[in-house]
Amino acid sequence: MRILLIEDEAALARPLREHLEADHHIVEWFATLDEAESAIRALEYDVVLLDLQLPDGDGLVFLSKIRAMHISTPIIILTARDKVTDRIDGLNRGADDYVIKPFDLDEVKARIQTVCRRSADQLTQTVVVRDLSICMSDHSVLRDGQSVRLTAKEWGVLEVLLRRRSKIVPKESLEAAIYAFGSEVESNALEAHISRLRSKLGKDLIVTHRGIGYTLQA
Ligand code: CA
Repeated sequence: MRILLIEDEAALARPLREHLEADHHIVEWFATLDEAESAIRALEYDVVLLDLQLPDGDGLVFLSKIRAMHISTPIIILTARDKVTDRIDGLNRGADDYVIKPFDLDEVKARIQTVCRRSADQLTQTVVVRDLSICMSDHSVLRDGQSVRLTAKEWGVLEVLLRRRSKIVPKESLEAAIYAFGSEVESNALEAHISRLRSKLGKDLIVTHRGIGYTLQA
């Protein structure tokens, strides 16, 4: 899993990162909301671990902001025990869970698994877009009832577009999805995948925003 850790206390962040990396997760750690926002705009994460008091602002404001951007990545708040109102406020603003500091490393790991399982369950349904019926769990696609074969990388790109359908998805997020399937991304690789997806799934399904990204037209 790719985990975004937003925490300014190195004494908490370092051991947590090491613990999660030992489990073969990719952990990107930032100590400011500004850096974290650039990261989450550019890349797809599986879960966000969010401290509330950061040097450049309030984690709750960040939470509201990314939910307003329709980024539905599960978010776990890392908070001190005496801030009960913050925890409730966080859940109301779209956080999925919270962990109380000082936290047990295995507890954080267990919470991550729980929220990710929950979010995966929400994606096991079949999504219908135009004449396409897309099964999120087995990655099968029917167009007008006929099965369409996609390569793993084409699926990776389609899945990221589907998760944020009707939104502009930055090129970097889609390139990260290709990269996740294990190869270097050549400069025109994304365009080539998009072009094959268009020919398989419908030529105006995916709209190009030149130099910015792509939108899947639902
Ligand atoms: Ca802090």
